[in-house]
Amino acid sequence: MNAKRPLVAVLTGAGISTDSGIPDYRGPQGLWQRDPAAQDLVTIGPYLADPDVRRRSWRMRQEVGAVGAEPNAGHLALVELERSGVPMRVLTQNVDGLHRRSGLPERKVLELHGTAQRVQCVRCRVRSDMDEALTRVAAGEDDPACRACGGILRPCTVMFGEALDATVLGTAASVARACEVFVAVGTLLQVHPAAGLAELAVQNGARLIIVNAEPTPYDPLADELIREPISAALPALVRRIVAGDLTAGAA
Ligand code: ZN
Repeated sequence: MNAKRPLVAVLTGAGISTDSGIPDYRGPQGLWQRDPAAQDLVTIGPYLADPDVRRRSWRMRQEVGAVGAEPNAGHLALVELERSGVPMRVLTQNVDGLHRRSGLPERKVLELHGTAQRVQCVRCRVRSDMDEALTRVAAGEDDPACRACGGILRPCTVMFGEALDATVLGTAASVARACEVFVAVGTLLQVHPAAGLAELAVQNGARLIIVNAEPTPYDPLADELIREPISAALPALVRRIVAGDLTAGAA
């Protein structure tokens, strides 16, 4: 058995946060399948052009915020992996901030799609907390403007119609190339850049482990497929990684 402790890259998608009560907007049962118009709320063109879209978007964020989501066993398993000393990085498609809230150091988490925990003025670029903006919404400002310049406020997420941050993407690609194990958790691996990162890892010799209830296009490339619920499967997988036992039970 290989006793070397490998760099583990963990790509996480919406599936890891559904147990925290955060809806999977993109998934098969997601809001954007049921109500395609809702996609306008997170598409940059309509968001900037239409105050009514922004008002609906703030209301949606209020509802998501009201869930009061806390990290679940899946998030906490990754904290355990980090604390075990195994070199690891989390690449997340999620904007909910739960990896950081769970206790992972900031440098260990790459937020590919940005964060919904912060907002930014599109004019003067000043950033502030989402909580503060939502407090203003709750107090009656249905489309709160930048306090400094009056510009439009937007979440610090990558919206539809926008490019991903090139620096974040470049770092994610380096991690995918360097890792010896690439774990894809709760993602359908259908959206760029998630799919490309999994492929890059495999091309560079990584073992691919997919933890997802539904099939993904990358299942044929995977060394192991885990279909169990994430909050149970991830703690078990982390125990095996920490034990250096990456081959036991492999598909
Ligand atoms: Zn401003």
